[in-house]
Amino acid sequence: MAPDVTSPTPGTGREVALDLGRFITASPSPFHAAAEAVRRLGEAGFTTVDEAGPWPTDDGRYLVVRGGSVVAWATDGGRSPVSGFRVVGAHTDSPNLRVRPRPDTGAAGFRQLGVEVYGGVLLNSWLDRDLGLSGRVAVAGTDGRPELRLFRADEPLLRVPQLAIHLDRTVNSEGLRLDPQAHMVPLWGTGRAEEGDFARFLADRLDVPAGRILGWDVMAHDLTPPALLGTDRSLLAAPRIDNLLSCHAATEAIAALVDGPGPEGGGPVPVVCFFDHEEVGSESASGAGSSMLPTLLERIAGAASLDRDGWFAALAASACLSADGAHATHPNHVGRHEPNHQVAVNAGPVVKHNANVRYATDAVGEALVASAAVAAHVPLQHFVTRGDLPCGSTIGPVTAARLGITTVDVGVAQLSMHSAREMCGADDPASFVALLTEFLRLPSAAVPVAP
Ligand code: ZN
Repeated sequence: MAPDVTSPTPGTGREVALDLGRFITASPSPFHAAAEAVRRLGEAGFTTVDEAGPWPTDDGRYLVVRGGSVVAWATDGGRSPVSGFRVVGAHTDSPNLRVRPRPDTGAAGFRQLGVEVYGGVLLNSWLDRDLGLSGRVAVAGTDGRPELRLFRADEPLLRVPQLAIHLDRTVNSEGLRLDPQAHMVPLWGTGRAEEGDFARFLADRLDVPAGRILGWDVMAHDLTPPALLGTDRSLLAAPRIDNLLSCHAATEAIAALVDGPGPEGGGPVPVVCFFDHEEVGSESASGAGSSMLPTLLERIAGAASLDRDGWFAALAASACLSADGAHATHPNHVGRHEPNHQVAVNAGPVVKHNANVRYATDAVGEALVASAAVAAHVPLQHFVTRGDLPCGSTIGPVTAARLGITTVDVGVAQLSMHSAREMCGADDPASFVALLTEFLRLPSAAVPVAP
């Protein structure tokens, strides 16, 4: 029987991986990831601030939720924006299949659900999996005003069946071709589809009349639970490791930091932010490309009575670590990786570099993360894409451009990025928590020019 996350394994590193598994299971959609981060931060003393209300002027631990995004910070224990911000950013969304507004369809005696592909999905990884549904639903309240409800159904409701090899004889020799419009339509029952089936399904599950369903952001998720993998259990197999691993690590890091002693003689404000919509470019009202983070940081500075000049000085004294998945060297495709920048699992966090600034890392950011790594007693690895392959990107360059602060892209090595089920080393989540904790309390973001 495969080990699962409910059966603990000795060793502190593995405990963190098991806890990451629980975080991932609690977070099938970005909205659930935000809710789980808020729940954990609440246990660490963070209280939720309403963006539309008055801003708290007392020092403390606070967070703001906007859709599937969360920003949390601490100004207690002598922490002040006068010493700048130490920001760790990550994203709550993962590539998946999302239910269309008029999804009821079918063919050949099957009832099917129309879906749209969200982000850079490895389409084949969604075939022949038992899928549940989750997300949020807008419902007309009893007073007629709309309200949002979190929704999840962890039952095998959907499946995108593969075509039998007998009907596609060249699939292994010539490759699998999948048309997202024609070939990725999940079936979810038999019989004739009728207009309104999905709305009635949601209404039934939410125990409201069907006429009160106003809209939804609902998506499919694989039901296979996270598992420690290998004879030595040295690997973690799970959905959404990109990028719930980083959300989990940053949540645990800021919780551990504020639980410890405050900085002596004042220190920077630790900030963690988890953005939705990274997988589709970050340009949304709650994405890393929005005004959300700059606005919140400015309000934090204002609450500390910094004037406009003080706000700009605080930004200049700040640094950001953009936390997102990195590619481990694939043992069956070693040639796809840059020979001098091989990356291994369970060998430490990975600093990601790109000369064309698809990653924000530069020598200044590298120096900052190196000093955090020394304090955390973790080794670092370095990733560069091959010169003959295009490079991916993340929120690092986006936040760097919005704020104008030093940013470094760092992540945990993984395989199967953007698959419905990904994999990473079981010891790496603990190393990442340690690194992020030290980054959040770096006393200085300055790397002075030598005389
Ligand atoms: Zn990512």
